[in-house]
Amino acid sequence: MWDVAVKILFTTTEAVPFCKTGGLGDVCGSLPLELARLGHEPVVILPAFRQTFHCGRPIESTNIRFEVPIGRKTVAGTLLRSSLPGEEVPVYLVHQPQYFDRPELYRENGHDYKDNCERFVFFCRAVLEAIQLLDLKTELVHCHDWPAGLVPAYLKTELAGVPPFDAIRSLMTIHNIAYQGNFWHWDMELTGIDWKYFNWRQMEFYGNLSFLKSGIAFADALTTVSPRYAQEIQHSPLGCGLEGILQHRHDDLCGIINGVDYNEWNPAIDSHLGGNNYSVRNFGDGKRACKAALQQEMKLPQTADVPLVAMIGRLADQKGFDLVARIIPERVANSPAQWVVLGTGEPQYHELFSKLAAEHPEKVAVRLGFSNELAHRIEAGADIFLMPSRYEPCGLNQLYSLKYGTVPVVHATGGLADSITDTNDETLAAGTANGFSFDTYNVTALADALDRACGAFHDRPLWEQLMRTGMQQDWSWNHSAREYERLYARTLNRAAILAR
Ligand code: ADP
Repeated sequence: MWDVAVKILFTTTEAVPFCKTGGLGDVCGSLPLELARLGHEPVVILPAFRQTFHCGRPIESTNIRFEVPIGRKTVAGTLLRSSLPGEEVPVYLVHQPQYFDRPELYRENGHDYKDNCERFVFFCRAVLEAIQLLDLKTELVHCHDWPAGLVPAYLKTELAGVPPFDAIRSLMTIHNIAYQGNFWHWDMELTGIDWKYFNWRQMEFYGNLSFLKSGIAFADALTTVSPRYAQEIQHSPLGCGLEGILQHRHDDLCGIINGVDYNEWNPAIDSHLGGNNYSVRNFGDGKRACKAALQQEMKLPQTADVPLVAMIGRLADQKGFDLVARIIPERVANSPAQWVVLGTGEPQYHELFSKLAAEHPEKVAVRLGFSNELAHRIEAGADIFLMPSRYEPCGLNQLYSLKYGTVPVVHATGGLADSITDTNDETLAAGTANGFSFDTYNVTALADALDRACGAFHDRPLWEQLMRTGMQQDWSWNHSAREYERLYARTLNRAAILAR
């Protein structure tokens, strides 16, 4: 067993059910469970954000207290213990109420917390303390996104040659390269890392300290969350300025598409559907009932024969809302389709959707908030899921939609391009068509894809073929967890795993 099980420390700021603002939380709550099933020994470490205490998981003290330097200060914290549901994966929470007991994780009212650099320097240092104090025997630290970016940097600078850290390898996963954790250069002092590393190849980025660039520069291996996005971020504009260093580290970078936790997102067993469960073998009645229930919940007329188009997510330009904003008023006025929108984000989109819902309550229903339960009911009740993201590292909602027989309409970018096959004669004949996609990011292309989808909705045999194809596909962690496993093995040079 010793040569197969890898001791992996997931270093992340989100993991379902403890805390989540987006796909990162889904991934870090489900991938460790899959790795445990494969025989590995993952452990998750998170900041003890206020949200984590309300997630329903039991949390206990470890009686372990530690102190770390933050610039000229010494800051103390404690470690709490919990586990992912299913009990087998330990979760440690870095408790420091001044940093983490706040209403939100990273920002409030549109503004980042001013001490974010200090908060996540503390977190990264605490992770390294925890490895020793908890005697985790970590072999590989799997770091997620910029808040974890200094962990590889500490391993290769301050802790180089220091046991047990000298034996630990690191993997940096980029979930969205637009979020980089860049801070003014004097914050370098907070890290305690020698100024000699503040250079354009390592920690400096256009005059600032960059957590993500530091992670990219120092990690032993790099991944991002889809093969297409791994290519896209090596070029401008999607590399967001980091394309140069990624090209430099091209041989160490790969894309692994995120998996879905089908215990959580599966219409056959989904407990949020009021008993109207369904599966690919028998979806007609269940799907119809879910649509009617959603229409009732959202106070829309209960008509089965108009397409119900849904959107869930951050109301941001990244998610394509700038294009949607330009077509939706005309569509709502002139087409019978119904719209359901769930999300929070930029004020101009809050305003736009509220206004449309007020003017056309029979066609548009909007919930400006975060509701996991409603997200499940929308996935089940909608006909079309619209996700025209300008860029999309992976995207999870289109994968959930496939499982729920809700046909995605997407911009062919990143993980959307890797998961959605546009409908045309060829892909229909091959049995691979599972949605509608457009290549060029503009209003005409989006409108065309949406028109094609709404047209296909009225061709019942065609529509059911698309639903069936999507529902039959396997986007679980089955494949992707094995890819991570192979990558861990390569990074640690563990032949036994590679031979499995
Ligand atoms: P992101 O770029 O935000 O991480 P993803 O598609 O990868 O986008 O993942 C977003 C996750 O967050 C999905 O699980 C989605 O259902 C969920 N989500 C986003 N906004 C909301 C919301 N307002 N209410 C409920 N769930 C949401």
